[in-house]
Amino acid sequence: MHLFWERILLAILILASVSWFVLKVTPKIRAILAGGPDRPRTDNPVARLKRTAKEVLLQSRVVGGRPVVGLLHAAVFLGFVAFAPETIEHFFNGFGLSLLEPLLGPALPLYRSLMLIVAVMVSAGIVGLAFRRFVLVKTSPDPRSWTSALVALFILVLMVTYLNGMRATPFAERINWWTHALVILAFPHLIIRSKHFHIFLAPLNIFFRSDRLGDYVKLDLEAIAESEVEDITLGLETMRTLPWKTRMDLLACVECRRCTDNCPAALAGTEMDPRAWVLAGRKALFSAKPEDPVIGTVIGEEALGYCATCGACENSCAVGVEHLQVLVGAKRAQALATGKGVVASDFLRAIESHGNALRLPKSDRKQMLAKLGMPRFTGEQDQWLLWLGCVWGFNADQQTAVAALKTTLDAAGVKYGVLDDEPCCGHHSRRQGEEAQFQDLARQSVQILHEKNVRQVVTPCPHCLHTIKREHIQFNGTQSIRAVHHSELLAELMAQGRLVPRVTDGSAKATYHDPCYLARYEGITEAPRMLLAKAGVALEEMPRRRERTLCCGGGAAGFVREITNEKRLDQARRAEIKASGATLLVTSCPQCRMMLSAAVDETRDIAEIVADSIRLAQAQSGLELKVEKGGPMFASTTYSAELAVKIKEVFEHEPQAEMQLLNLAGRTHFSGKLGELKHAADHLVETGELQEKHHGGGTYYHLGKTS
Ligand code: SF4
Ligand code: SF4
Repeated sequence: MHLFWERILLAILILASVSWFVLKVTPKIRAILAGGPDRPRTDNPVARLKRTAKEVLLQSRVVGGRPVVGLLHAAVFLGFVAFAPETIEHFFNGFGLSLLEPLLGPALPLYRSLMLIVAVMVSAGIVGLAFRRFVLVKTSPDPRSWTSALVALFILVLMVTYLNGMRATPFAERINWWTHALVILAFPHLIIRSKHFHIFLAPLNIFFRSDRLGDYVKLDLEAIAESEVEDITLGLETMRTLPWKTRMDLLACVECRRCTDNCPAALAGTEMDPRAWVLAGRKALFSAKPEDPVIGTVIGEEALGYCATCGACENSCAVGVEHLQVLVGAKRAQALATGKGVVASDFLRAIESHGNALRLPKSDRKQMLAKLGMPRFTGEQDQWLLWLGCVWGFNADQQTAVAALKTTLDAAGVKYGVLDDEPCCGHHSRRQGEEAQFQDLARQSVQILHEKNVRQVVTPCPHCLHTIKREHIQFNGTQSIRAVHHSELLAELMAQGRLVPRVTDGSAKATYHDPCYLARYEGITEAPRMLLAKAGVALEEMPRRRERTLCCGGGAAGFVREITNEKRLDQARRAEIKASGATLLVTSCPQCRMMLSAAVDETRDIAEIVADSIRLAQAQSGLELKVEKGGPMFASTTYSAELAVKIKEVFEHEPQAEMQLLNLAGRTHFSGKLGELKHAADHLVETGELQEKHHGGGTYYHLGKTS
């Protein structure tokens, strides 16, 4: 029981601590609220809450990025949450009251026993974190941080005093009690003046974070053109224009350096250092004037020029900092407002003059299409628009990949066609801040897709995919259009049995490079691996893979920009590819292939691997079972009879085989409707030449005479 004067002292200290905290937190809240307008950030509240629970309570990003450190952090954080009732109880006890006794009743001893385990867990966690920060200095984000040292000490003291207080006869009981109380009262003040402020801001920041990487608000250029000069905001030009969420981001940063460690530009030794500019921005919130420029105050012009918008920084941040909003916002200011510092002006001019990044005449693409016999898109029912993108359309080195995709689509009987004139989708223009050029290109693309009555698009380029799928929607164009990557379509065709691969010889050691815009932005990592596995390619996986892939440097028009040799963004990835020991590099992005070619003996697109395995399948079967489409497809007797002969040939060649209809389509190079194939197969069942079996929800056929 505490003496009367102790209770009075405790009340004064609590009041002083809370008042001091409010005084210190007010300027930070003001700095956030002084921000410019932002996009809606409270839509889909349930999804936002779920994300917050996953990333805060389950610490998914913290643990996912750095498993060992992440688990230690999770132990400390969960202990922090679990100790909240005990902390309140401690102060209740100071006034001779109890919260937990009436609340938990007979369950209180059990709760206390659990808390003893939690206290040991937290102590181990904080000692581990301190060891990593102050002893393993090579991997430490900041070994000289005195606030981190003090926080570690405070947490340890809290745990030790708690454990001592729980003993039957605590050592120096009254001193122990007061030490515990004073450390708790001092804690918020340490938090407020250090990076540990993220304890309060991280959950809010994660809740308000955009739904997906690189979700850029469309600038209303028409409204801007009509508005008064002083109202115009073209990107993040001055400190005044930083939106409130960006300001919250800057304050929430926990200085962990994950963003910098994963940035290809930082790894290449350029001026880009995401953590450094986030911290510079935090400082500037309190020291810069509203009219100070963002470029130069938060991020340097040189550094900005190296950003490939790969998203690794944002994706690795555990407290919801949205780097890309600042990076692309600042690039918009360069391109649209100041006109200074634009690094990809050659690219932007190439798009103006030639309509493609490679500055090649349209006749080159036409010749390639003619040479490969590429079918044209006609708008026929079920037809896919094959959107080639500029690299496949113009780079002669990649014609083998175009031909390979053609082989696979033909083999699977897919109806597809390309456009005679394919506009640039605008992807890189937007990432270079040239929103006006992007909007023109996006409108052109959307108009063509509408005019041609396109319902489904397949493309080998993750950049085009991302823009057609996610950004052209801002132009009311493509909601109803299904857009997929070629690896997804090929995987789908294989799963349906319309493409039947065979294991290739597998002599080359292969590795797969996940393109940033495919893996990180679109989450497509499984389809290419499934295709490689089916083709018998065993992978030597690189440490940075899937969503954590390392950029090749091709983003934001990097694939056509001249960058000096000593600061090339692709060098770190090339080193990793070499270190994997692979002699074959497989990519699923034309731009990555351009950037990483010659990293090892051979670089190939995923479509080429699939095409090889299909050709091998044909060679192994010894049959060329091509059935050309002719006349009306559905229930055409001539066509059905021709098809029935081909089906019989397949089974006679492989008498033990049992095949599904879709699998049969692949074997016969069937190019018509599935109903036609069924018609022919049913006919063979009726005549007793085939037998039908149903299992696993599917219909299978096998040769009648063998069973
Ligand atoms: S987007 Fe990529 S290149 Fe740009 S700063 Fe982030 S990690 Fe670096
Ligand atoms: S921005 Fe995020 S990832 Fe980068 S140092 Fe800060 S908290 Fe870490």
